[in-house]
Amino acid sequence: MANFRTHISVAAGIGAAATSYGLYIGLWPLAHAPSLVVLSALGGVMPDIDADKSRSVRLIFTVLAVAAAFIALSIGRAYFSMAVVLCIALALYVGIRDVVSLIFKFATRHRASWHSLLAAGGTSAATAALSYHFFAQSPRLAWIDGGALCLGMLIHLILDECFSIDLEGARLKRSFGTALKFFDYQRPVATTLMLGATVALWPWLPPSPYAPTATRAHCPTAQVTSASAEYPHHAELSYSR
Ligand SMILES: [Zn+2]
Repeated sequence: MANFRTHISVAAGIGAAATSYGLYIGLWPLAHAPSLVVLSALGGVMPDIDADKSRSVRLIFTVLAVAAAFIALSIGRAYFSMAVVLCIALALYVGIRDVVSLIFKFATRHRASWHSLLAAGGTSAATAALSYHFFAQSPRLAWIDGGALCLGMLIHLILDECFSIDLEGARLKRSFGTALKFFDYQRPVATTLMLGATVALWPWLPPSPYAPTATRAHCPTAQVTSASAEYPHHAELSYSR
């Protein structure tokens, strides 16, 4: 399998190229471009979240812990004092980075469920939901964020398979076929749990960006600005009724 440096640099490189092209044809604003490259790079190491000793695990759980602390800060300040919110954010940061990662280590097996298209789809859907609800992105940009993570994960799976081919010996290594698969065929319980978690995300997914009223129903403060910026005619439709 490819190592950490190969995964992150290839995913970041392809992510940067795709982001530049999207920027060139006007798919997203310049301000959004850095987050797309970061998401692609993160997706590039995400499947190795199940590799107990890899650097990917530490990086992924640190990013998740920072995101959780940020979300706690942005939501909690409306309900609690600043001191309480800081304590919650700190607890989340330490809990996710040191406790959840430890539980994850014992509960998962390398090259199993997380090396699959199901994991790529589920994680990307979760990214789109987080981006929409907690980072106030429009439905279109939230789906694009999910797509950037999905791109990185697909690059990882393809790279792992490429490194399973022994060109000099003209043979396939035993690991061939264990990375790029639809789901983990050998562990039905883990696969069912992952599928269930993905389906359970359905109510939180951003609406289709092509829907005539693609506004931010769950985030009233960002509804007008975000929808107006990307879909001025849609925003007018929503508020003129
Ligand atoms: Zn891998």
